[in-house]
Amino acid sequence: MARMRAKKHLPERMARCTERWFEDPKANKGKWREVCGFPSDCEVFLEVGCGKGKFCTEMAPRFPNALYIALERDPSVCLLAIEKAHRAEIPNLFFIQADANFLEEYFEEDELNRIYLNFSDPWTRQNKPKRRLTYRTFLEQYKKLMKKGGSVLFKTDNDELFDFSVEEFKECGFELSEYTRDLHNSEWDKDNVRTEFEQKFADQGINIKRVVATY
Ligand code: SAH
Repeated sequence: MARMRAKKHLPERMARCTERWFEDPKANKGKWREVCGFPSDCEVFLEVGCGKGKFCTEMAPRFPNALYIALERDPSVCLLAIEKAHRAEIPNLFFIQADANFLEEYFEEDELNRIYLNFSDPWTRQNKPKRRLTYRTFLEQYKKLMKKGGSVLFKTDNDELFDFSVEEFKECGFELSEYTRDLHNSEWDKDNVRTEFEQKFADQGINIKRVVATY
């Protein structure tokens, strides 16, 4: 994705939504539930590469008892997501502006129950498999941070990336379910929330691929 131009007044705008993000998110490692005021047994969902926040602001209200954390590395894009959640006053949605390469600095082993990956790939055109968010080093990281029985929910428009990811999931011992190469014409569409990218790709007639990988 073309990098968004730095937003004007970014610090001031971030300062208006301080209850949505953390000055030092690493300090929350292992205690996200407690810090966010949620019960110690609630589920924690992490979305990696949330973009402008359409998906998380629609998903969090569907799971009001879960704690939903969205991570995005681009500060300007992350700001837009934070402002969207702030306007909508969603009590169970919080943000981390950071890179997914360093998830272990933010989360403790077993702290997460679900990880959403939506079109969140630093593209295949660079052909650097190691940088894909479904490359095995990332999957090993997710396994460590998710409680046993947790799932990665992966959606993409890209056939090659989808095939690659399915192989990586299998290789790393995940069980696959809800596999589809045409999500919008599948039985799972009724519960599906479309992301910004997903809507754009669907408008171009591109099928959305999706799989749930449980460990
Ligand atoms: N999920 C959104 C945005 C997809 S674009 C949607 O479906 O509409 C991919 C997003 O992932 C971009 O905003 C990009 O900044 C983010 N991203 C890519 N790699 C990342 C990484 N390693 N860590 C955090 N965010 C990442």
